[in-house]
Amino acid sequence: MRQKPFAPLAALCASAALVAACSVVDLAPIPIAEVPQSAMAAEPVTYAVPAAYPAPVDVAAPAAAVPSLADATLPAAPAAVPPAPVMASAAPAMAAPPVTLGFPAVSVPRFGGRQEGGMPAEEVQCRKRLKRLGVSFRDIPAIRDSASCGIDYPVEVTSLGRSIGLKPAAKLNCAMAEEAARWAQRDLAPAARTRYLSGIAEVRQMSSYSCRRISGSGTFSEHSKGNALDIGAIKLKNGRVIDVHKPGLFAFRERSFLRSVRGQACDRFGTVLGPGYNRDHADHFHLDLKDRRRTACH
Ligand SMILES: [Zn+2]
Repeated sequence: MRQKPFAPLAALCASAALVAACSVVDLAPIPIAEVPQSAMAAEPVTYAVPAAYPAPVDVAAPAAAVPSLADATLPAAPAAVPPAPVMASAAPAMAAPPVTLGFPAVSVPRFGGRQEGGMPAEEVQCRKRLKRLGVSFRDIPAIRDSASCGIDYPVEVTSLGRSIGLKPAAKLNCAMAEEAARWAQRDLAPAARTRYLSGIAEVRQMSSYSCRRISGSGTFSEHSKGNALDIGAIKLKNGRVIDVHKPGLFAFRERSFLRSVRGQACDRFGTVLGPGYNRDHADHFHLDLKDRRRTACH
């Protein structure tokens, strides 16, 4: 009884299906032959880049950590670095520098948000902290070089506090200046005192604000927001200069010093790259405050 009202509709559907089937038969060979080819040609390109990066230090790092590293700052081909086998064993992770899951409490200002009514409270607070740290700095006019390059509230830093000079003067956002000062005072200075019985006279930087893209990539570097600092050398108060490079085989003290301060930097910054990572970083530490879920520590 209940099927009766639907009988005409069923007949209609059957004939419609037949028509559709016929038209599919007519048209099917053309799209089926073409679509898969173009789709297959496009796909491998998308995923080739993340696979080339060395694995993060953390053994427990999920596979998802690799793409997050790739889409950020790292150059395309770290050919000089063998793929880190950290996923295979827990042992390398024990010796590796500590990895932090959190980030400095300071918030990193983003370019493009300069307000008309004066400096935002977080920038004001940041400058107060710089003063407490003894950092020598001055506010300089906003930098706007392009849509991707600039700093809303830049500072020019000449000393990281406690008589640690920064040469040449660096243009940074305030959060980066603050963390660089903490690193210099709390990590660099004690490490030098322990190994060389000397304080730090100056930190020599190779790049601060700089409007540029990451080598081999279309992505703008954190330098283009004043959110990164490249450290090329550290001069001690006793006159000794420690260059950031891969130390010689018997340079035990230098090796220990550089390894120590590099590892400590990983607790402070979003990205730490240096000698051994790739050719672009063979002679300096790159430190930046990129907001990541996990520090990129290489
Ligand atoms: Zn850099």
